[in-house]
Amino acid sequence: MTAAPQLAGRLRGFGTTVFAEMSALAVATGSINLGQGFPDYPGPPEVLDVARAAIGTAADQYPPGPGIPELREAIAEHRQRFTGQVYDPDTEVLVTAGATEALAAAMLSLLEPGDEVVLFEPIYDSYSAATAMAGGVVRPVPLHPPEDGAGRWTFDPADVRAAVTPRTRLLLLNTPHNPTGTVLTTEELDFLAELAVAHDLLVVTDEVYEHLVFDGARHVSPATLPGMQERTLVVSSAGKTFNVTGWKVGWICGPAPLVAAVRTAKQFLTYVNAGPFQPAVAAGLRLPDAYFAGIARDLQARRDVLVRGLQEAGLPVISPEATYFATVDVRGVQPDGDGLAFCRSLPGRAGVVAVPSGVFYTPQHAALGRHLVRFAFCKSDDVLGEAVRRLGRLA
Ligand SMILES: *Cc1c(COP(=O)(O)O)cnc(C)c1O
Repeated sequence: MTAAPQLAGRLRGFGTTVFAEMSALAVATGSINLGQGFPDYPGPPEVLDVARAAIGTAADQYPPGPGIPELREAIAEHRQRFTGQVYDPDTEVLVTAGATEALAAAMLSLLEPGDEVVLFEPIYDSYSAATAMAGGVVRPVPLHPPEDGAGRWTFDPADVRAAVTPRTRLLLLNTPHNPTGTVLTTEELDFLAELAVAHDLLVVTDEVYEHLVFDGARHVSPATLPGMQERTLVVSSAGKTFNVTGWKVGWICGPAPLVAAVRTAKQFLTYVNAGPFQPAVAAGLRLPDAYFAGIARDLQARRDVLVRGLQEAGLPVISPEATYFATVDVRGVQPDGDGLAFCRSLPGRAGVVAVPSGVFYTPQHAALGRHLVRFAFCKSDDVLGEAVRRLGRLA
């Protein structure tokens, strides 16, 4: 990472990310970019058509601050359909500029300087930065990969208990989890919910992969557990569900006082965004159940192609239960076990780009992720097939 010397202290350490380096490397070497997690295939036509029709109408102007009523109603309906929970579209739902703004606005509006945020690492990169911008302090708890590669990532409950202090204000959960692809189980969530209630913590849950779950795994929203809805802000996004990551339409659902707090910060960050995309996302959220089941099935097939390809290339892979990503252990093909060095050499060795999982760890736990590398499989059949053929050169 490189940072400008003028950068304020609270943002030190958040310079240009390795994603930029790896994407530039992909372009410079003509490699297939399995680093960044965005689909290279379009969203459902029912959604895209609504956006096209909205451009050139009044939808191009500032929408209402909390989001257009039609979208807030669709968000509440979707939430009720998939979790049974009732949220008032007028006071308990807020449309944001992607999940990223929802998370940043939550941190900025809920944290006092010095407040601590307990979260699991590896960490989605914006969490640490959003916490730092709000003057908060991250207290990371490691998720441990399965010993033999088969099985799930999980945490030691004692580590979570030890991370909670009198300064802890907020528990930040991400399920399904990026970058590990883990889906928190009901038992794990029971433990976390009891802890949150016992310590009267606020909870923010990032559920942007709520529909991208494979095999027998089932996404359970932490907000559905006893004592949780009244303390939890649920964050989600259209990007991953409708293959429109560039639209940046996200939302937050939660109790009215917490949503009002987030709205206070949000109105001075972007105020509003994505006018013509808001009715399109409303249409998407109202698609039949078959659409949501279909995207999971489709992505599961892509996961299977990549996981098999990585295995055949001699890379031990932890098969994900959800999301866009698979993680490999590079120690067998990279003698010094350095995931960053492996990623820098991969374009030359195989014409493929991935990202070192070390970037998803705080400096104090960097060693835990040093030998791990993340590959995205949200790519079209042609691209994924060619990537797998190229990775075969490693074998
Ligand atoms: C992609 C992603 C986001 C960002 O969502 P946007 O709606 O694009 O802001 C947030 N959290 C996780 C875990 C993600 O993978």
